[in-house]
Amino acid sequence: MRVLVTGGAGFLGSHLCDRLIAEGHEVICLDSLLTGRADNIAHLQRHPRFTFIQHDITHPFFIAERVDWVLHFASPASPKDYGAHPIHTLKVGALGTYHMLGLAKAHGAKFLLASTSEVYGDPEVHPQPESYWGHVNPIGERSCYDEAKRFAEALTMAYWRQHGIDVRIIRIFNTVGPRMRIDDGRVFPNFITQALKGEPLTVYGDGSQTRSFCYVDDLIEGVMQVMAWTPPEGADELARVFNLGNPEEVTILELAHLVKEVTGSRSPIVFRPLPKDDPKQRRPDITKAKNFLGWQPRTSLREAVERTLPYFRHMLGLSEQKGGN
Ligand code: UDP
Repeated sequence: MRVLVTGGAGFLGSHLCDRLIAEGHEVICLDSLLTGRADNIAHLQRHPRFTFIQHDITHPFFIAERVDWVLHFASPASPKDYGAHPIHTLKVGALGTYHMLGLAKAHGAKFLLASTSEVYGDPEVHPQPESYWGHVNPIGERSCYDEAKRFAEALTMAYWRQHGIDVRIIRIFNTVGPRMRIDDGRVFPNFITQALKGEPLTVYGDGSQTRSFCYVDDLIEGVMQVMAWTPPEGADELARVFNLGNPEEVTILELAHLVKEVTGSRSPIVFRPLPKDDPKQRRPDITKAKNFLGWQPRTSLREAVERTLPYFRHMLGLSEQKGGN
């Protein structure tokens, strides 16, 4: 198949490109490189079935060759990144999704929207099933991302209803692994970088807020299974939406202690102000993915930290042996 991956030079997008190439597909990778990195796909550049096109999908994109799947992953995704580019984030979610749905319609391609657990906002239902409508502040600092993705979901479903495009939506919960940008401001790269450099680990608030972290390989496996799955005849819109994430929930303070333990770091833990609208709890209910796809994550959080450490050491120019004291 020929597969178009938007955001293909990003953290998740580049792992997805690897997986598609490994399965024998032809991959066209679009990325504006606003938050994606050419380094993430450097190893694929000479591959005969891989094409990289630097393009900002807030502008239309046309392609003559037939496309079978459109996997739409482009968007700034860390609070620091979308906070720095709020208007562009809204344009990618709205115009970018519109252009990619138009492309999928023109080619009769299957379309996947990479949505987010952020559509649930600061949830009042815990854990979050796909049927939960969410609790989002429409004018808050996170709204540029949350509402962009909510609009993208609505547009995706409109193309399914009006044009019969074969769509799927995945709501991705916090995912970690190699190729995360070390300066994207998220808690996982922050803590690991701080621990390895012997700097204080910055816990925002009192660290009692929770998150659930999924290792990237598990997530990519979930994406492939969602694409391979066919919704039952006559199924409603909810059938096309899947939470993908690891239900192993930890407080941010527990994560700080775990990172210190695994890295053997003697860094102190310091407390900093909690950003506005920071969700207090987040854990996916993955019953649906388990029942329909037989999918569930295999990698524990401890293993995820261990498996990501060599990458962060490399990015920081530290040798394998050196701890972070
Ligand atoms: N956080 C933290 N220290 C940091 C970075 C983030 O305590 O150096 C907290 C943040 O306030 C949030 C959680 O860790 O409660 C996860 O934040 P992240 O930016 O990774 O992503 P989010 O899940 O909020 O989108």
